[in-house]
Amino acid sequence: MSTELTYCYHCRTHHPRNEMRLMVTKTGKRWRCIRSIQATQQGREAREAYGRLVSEINRAESKSRAQRLNNLLQEK
Ligand SMILES: [Zn+2]
Repeated sequence: MSTELTYCYHCRTHHPRNEMRLMVTKTGKRWRCIRSIQATQQGREAREAYGRLVSEINRAESKSRAQRLNNLLQEK
């Protein structure tokens, strides 16, 4: 496996070739380091987990709002 330094379009620096993957982009094939790919994947997972949390909070809030409204209507 080659360890020659290759330009990483993501970090805008050079890494050993054996720490990189060849990515196909709109502008052609470009090398990107595995570390930055993994960081992006973790970022996406974290964003999705956060999105689920937010929608759960929204659900719980609208549920409690509906319950409050119900209680209010029953009090009358
Ligand atoms: Zn990189």
